[in-house]
This record gives sequence, structure tokens and C-alpha cells, in this order.
Amino acid sequence: MKVLMLNGGGLDSLCMAKLAREQNPDAFIQSLCVSYGLPSEPHTAKSAQRIADRYCNAHEAFYMQKQVGEQKVSASLFTTSPTAAGNLFRHVPHYGLLLIVTAYSYAIANGFTHILCGIKKEARSPEFFKYFEKTLKTAKLTGSQPILETPLFDAEFALIHHVIKDDPLITKTWSCNEDHECGVCVKCQLRKKFAIIYDGGNDA
Ligand SMILES: [Zn+2]
Repeated sequence: MKVLMLNGGGLDSLCMAKLAREQNPDAFIQSLCVSYGLPSEPHTAKSAQRIADRYCNAHEAFYMQKQVGEQKVSASLFTTSPTAAGNLFRHVPHYGLLLIVTAYSYAIANGFTHILCGIKKEARSPEFFKYFEKTLKTAKLTGSQPILETPLFDAEFALIHHVIKDDPLITKTWSCNEDHECGVCVKCQLRKKFAIIYDGGNDA
């Protein structure tokens, strides 16, 4: 069993990695962190690496950026919804779809049998799932068929918290999209509610 796990360095990724290792002690689990140039990138990269070091056999990080003239532009610019001021790039609804495409390409090219993706129902709109299904169908046209598993799809955060509450890495995970904990986004609010204090800034 050769498993490719999408690793965003957050609480869900920690939970998924822990469960995957517990349930498949002998599996080869490869962690893949796909980064779109969000301000949180340095923190999430570090956190994803720690999760991989503890639970996975290997780790790789992709940094998706677009070169426009002399400027390197974060891929998040063309994967997020257009703003009122417009968007330079063609709108790709929801960057999660790019994650899936990237994961499938990587899995097929490297002979993975399973893909683990921490996508959750509550975090996405019905529109997302329409495109998600279409993307999956397209990805599967290649002939190779890695199995996509979404173990957290219906999970309430309380359940995820229960799995990871005693994990030594819980306070080393990063959740906010900003380069500091903004304190107001959904992810920061959730950490506050469950008293998960980040203390992974200084150690390697
Ligand atoms: Zn935040």
C-alpha cells in the first residue's frame, strides 16, 4: 500500500496523518504539501514538515507560483475568487481543485495506490463539490486509478480534536492563512475555542 497524503500543516492534516499511521503501520505514506503562496506559507511549511517527520515516510513540498514579467506572483491570486477590482488571471473556482489535480498527477506518476485528502464537507460550498466531481472524473480518465480517501469529510472538529488532543504536535500546527495568528478568522476562532495555543515558532 503506497499512500499519498495531502499535508497542509494544520490540525486536520495532523489528525489524518496520525490515523493513517495507526491504521496502516506498514504502509509507505508520502506527505505532499502544495503551497500557493499564502502569507502563512513559512509557518505551514514548517508544520507540514513536522507532521511528515513524525507520521510519514517521506515529504515533498510544491511551491506554485506564476512568473509574470519580472514578478513572481502567488498562485493564490488566480485560484481565489475574483475581487470587485477584478482579477488578472482566469478564475479557477477553489484552489482545492488544483490540489486534487496535483495529487492525482503525482500519484499516477509515482505509482501511489491511495490518496488521502482532508477535505471537509462543512468547509465547502455545493458549487465546490460540483467542480470536485468533474475534476475527479477528468483525473480518472488517465486509466490509472489511485483511490481517493477523504476520512475527515463528515467529521466534526470535536472528533478531530479528540484524536489529536494529546499529540505532541498539536501546538506546533499552524492554521491561519495570515503570517501571524489574525485571531478573527474561522480557523483562529476554532483554535481559541479549543484552547490550542501555537508554540512552534522557535524550535526547528
Ligand atoms: Zn486567523
